[in-house]
Amino acid sequence: TTELLKVKNLKQHFPIKGGIFGRTVNHVKAVDDISFEINEGETLSIVGESGCGKSTTGRAILRLEEPTSGEIEFDGKDLLALNKRQMREMRKELQIIFQDPYASINPRQTVRQILNEAMHVQNVMPPDQREERMLELLDIVGLGSHQLDRFPHEFSGGQRQRIGIARALSVDPRLIICDESVSALDVSIQAQVLNLLKELQREFNLTYLFIAHDLGVVRHISDRVIVMYLGKIVEIADKKSLFDNPKHPYTKTLLSAIPSPDPEVLKENVILKGDVPSPIDPPSGCRFHTRCPFASDKCKEEEPELRVTETGMTEGHQAACHFIEEIESGERLPN
Ligand code: SF4
Ligand code: MG
Repeated sequence: TTELLKVKNLKQHFPIKGGIFGRTVNHVKAVDDISFEINEGETLSIVGESGCGKSTTGRAILRLEEPTSGEIEFDGKDLLALNKRQMREMRKELQIIFQDPYASINPRQTVRQILNEAMHVQNVMPPDQREERMLELLDIVGLGSHQLDRFPHEFSGGQRQRIGIARALSVDPRLIICDESVSALDVSIQAQVLNLLKELQREFNLTYLFIAHDLGVVRHISDRVIVMYLGKIVEIADKKSLFDNPKHPYTKTLLSAIPSPDPEVLKENVILKGDVPSPIDPPSGCRFHTRCPFASDKCKEEEPELRVTETGMTEGHQAACHFIEEIESGERLPN
């Protein structure tokens, strides 16, 4: 496996201005020191509740928002060292598909204009060859050639997302960041779009960073999954380990919220108390301690590191909790 994207110690802190002088009085710690890699051809998902930093991570990778600090390497190149022009060129290889394609396409443009513009900006092929490519793209995403001169409002949500996918594909990218790309769609349409994304991945050897708040959606598409909470990675694992053998109390609560496809599997229902705290002054120690049923004094003081545990996890499965072993052995019971 080849490492395509490497994110190291990424931080994204947004300043909060206040007072009569408009000085920076505090920061929203949207992403707070996270590291991960994505291998070529795989789908790595990031899940978590809104405000956990997952979208911010995607935007930072594309430098739609300049990260506060950290390293981002794509195909061995230091993305943060690129100037604006070089970064624009790099977007040929790194594309993003948003939740609402309406937010990123001009409603007054036809599909033809949308695709043509994307190809023009990246200078991907001579204008006289684009028509053929556009028809091919429509076919690839499951829209007919007669759709080329239609406007976005003439399509359903699922079809519009296919247009977004066609636009991303039009520049022949290697990595696509899917930011809640199916979240707004009905469940049956979600499945169709997820299947399409999978097919395209096989056909074009695409790599996905798949951002979602719903673990149920992530189950279909991921190879590996990262769970984030308040700007931190709390667990990372291959899909099977994460779903079959979650380690972090937060992951367990997220999992107990989705219906199990296997009725034989009895889930320990972990109930979350309270709301997600503010990322401005996140809780000390383990950020999950204000909601965690297993929290102790140590959790309030010491921040748990992401670590492999001693309870027979597959390689690469890591979680950030002081008491994984004790919780599993039953030594530590919910408060
Ligand atoms: Fe819960 Fe403590 Fe583990 Fe954090 S470190 S998840 S508060 S038990
Ligand atoms: Mg988001």
